[in-house]
Amino acid sequence: MQTGRTRRASRRLVAVALLLALLAGTACAPLTVPEEQALGNQFEQSMRGELAFVYDRTIVDYVRKMGAELVAAAGPQPFEYRFYVVVDDEINAFAGPAGHIYVHTATILKARNASELAGVMAHEVGHVAKRHIAANYNRSRNTQIGANLVTLAASILGGGMVGNAASLGTSLAAAGFLNSFGREAEHESDVFAVRAMARAGWSPDGLVSFFELLLHEQGGGGPSFLSSHPATQDRIAQTRAEIEKLDPSRSLRVNDGGKFEIIQRRIELVTGRHRLRRR
Ligand SMILES: [Zn+2]
Repeated sequence: MQTGRTRRASRRLVAVALLLALLAGTACAPLTVPEEQALGNQFEQSMRGELAFVYDRTIVDYVRKMGAELVAAAGPQPFEYRFYVVVDDEINAFAGPAGHIYVHTATILKARNASELAGVMAHEVGHVAKRHIAANYNRSRNTQIGANLVTLAASILGGGMVGNAASLGTSLAAAGFLNSFGREAEHESDVFAVRAMARAGWSPDGLVSFFELLLHEQGGGGPSFLSSHPATQDRIAQTRAEIEKLDPSRSLRVNDGGKFEIIQRRIELVTGRHRLRRR
């Protein structure tokens, strides 16, 4: 009979072997949905050790519900999306493989209404749904980051390196790499977001106004959301053009009856951080 410890250890060894085979054996083939799911689970585990999460039920439920509604409005999806709130003063949001989406508290605090947050989240969902993360992963296979992803996955499963400086740098670097998109991918995600928002009943103007807010913030070095999702004037114009294609008779909301503002206050309370000054 195996003890809990040896069972865990052998499960880990099997998982390491499977993952390494998965990562190495398909060097040229595109990342499949099951492969992305496996990678997503590893990614999520590594993030759990590195980021400070908000666990407050009310806050988490609000973000998850908003995310789930956007995903549902976008139609059938290959992944089960999961949304997390991360305590961080940088305006940012990013997607891991297979629909693990992380939203920084600064993004929620800085948004001027619920539709702006919905815009950011819909955009991130777009990167996953359009398989941009998978494409970046494939692009990474022949690079140092690709090798790091393999090491990262093995180290997480092996249980030895998690939490030390090496794995910290590695997985955050991997997150950054997986979230650096070209203009075409950004546009595709914006179009996806506009349509998903409208179907979910949100005004897609929220996406544009959040870009404008980011552009305004850019003066002081720029929030990190901009480095991975550059908000250019071109992009704003293209997004507006997409919004104009929507049925103008539909009434789309910007606010949700004060619920969003309650969440903002709750984040301030829970994290002990003051709301970033509005401009
Ligand atoms: Zn983006």
